[in-house]
Amino acid sequence: VLTQVYLPDGTGPVDLVLRQGRIERIGNGLVPDAQIINCAGGTVLPGFVDAHMHLDKTLIGEQWIPLPNLGGASVPMRVAEAEAILENLTTLSVAERAELLAQQALALGTMALRSHVDVTPAMGLRSVEALLGVRERLASQVDIQLVAFPQAGFNQPGVPDLLEEAMRLGCSVIGGIDPATVDGDIEQQLRALFQLAVRFDAAIDVHLHDLGWLGAFELDRICAWTDAEGFAGRVVVSHAFTLGDLSENDSQTLVERVARTGVAIVTCATGHRPLPRARQLWKAGVLLGVGSDNVHDTWSPYGRGDALEMAFLFAYRNGLRTDPELYRALETVTTTNARILGRPVGDLAVGAPADLVVVDPPNGAAALAAHGPRRAVIRRGQVIHADGWTGGQLTP
Ligand SMILES: [Zn+2]
Repeated sequence: VLTQVYLPDGTGPVDLVLRQGRIERIGNGLVPDAQIINCAGGTVLPGFVDAHMHLDKTLIGEQWIPLPNLGGASVPMRVAEAEAILENLTTLSVAERAELLAQQALALGTMALRSHVDVTPAMGLRSVEALLGVRERLASQVDIQLVAFPQAGFNQPGVPDLLEEAMRLGCSVIGGIDPATVDGDIEQQLRALFQLAVRFDAAIDVHLHDLGWLGAFELDRICAWTDAEGFAGRVVVSHAFTLGDLSENDSQTLVERVARTGVAIVTCATGHRPLPRARQLWKAGVLLGVGSDNVHDTWSPYGRGDALEMAFLFAYRNGLRTDPELYRALETVTTTNARILGRPVGDLAVGAPADLVVVDPPNGAAALAAHGPRRAVIRRGQVIHADGWTGGQLTP
């Protein structure tokens, strides 16, 4: 039983009775012989979902590895540099590092995540094979969705065949990247992506960094392919910086098309890049999720795999300030990301899985603003971590 806890909308305090991995009762009154976590006026949130990670690139678990200054480097130069770091400077295997990051994210409340996995001429399928093992080993703790991701481009020697093999091995999402600037042929990449997705009955997730009208044109073409192939609800465009780069006025028609087409946008609130405007996308009805992207890895020294912190950064950079806006920002990493990943939407209802996070502030909006420590993380009724929890002893 979680006692003295508020619900995300601020109602409470209530007691939450959990049994056999599910929420059995929400109300007041204790249960005889129950194990108790006293939440002391904190808030219970649904377990978090991270819609965009790169578990294979992280350097977590290594001694600090300084990153080179790559100002002005092209994407192929950056890819080569990142692969050289992983190849020459790491001491742990891809699987060991990926598992450490997934477990760190779980300790912070992430119970499901989507990870892109590099498939390049140099890496081949090594990272995919490692991550498939991680997904299996952690299956009881974190649901991991794997994207076969052509980081160096689709149009590279051997990559189309490698992507196909990655899907056959068990990736469930096919990835794309800047079809114009990385591959130099928008239609060729999109045709190949959708053909693979149809063949494997898979979802699609495209990294789109390209800015201005070029990025807007690519996003428009992704919408056209989504319409033509009947893929509404199964296509994500990650970053879509162009929606924040163009003025609100210039991007409005495209934003409306994205909403109508059923293409979801996942933003990572990347520090130095323009990001889609939350209020504009919400108003148009776009499904807008949030992910960590690079977490202390070969591309970025920052981050710790904390979905709540990412939702905070998204809200902070968008200048959100009212409680309904903060609450909606919190929902990006709970119900919205769950929808985007095609998972059952985690909510706090009787009968729902007991995937829960407890934090100190007294409601969801305050929890987002503070993005502080997790008092308790509970996955399918199992206590992953809880303050004051002494291994199953009664601690009223
Ligand atoms: Zn990414």
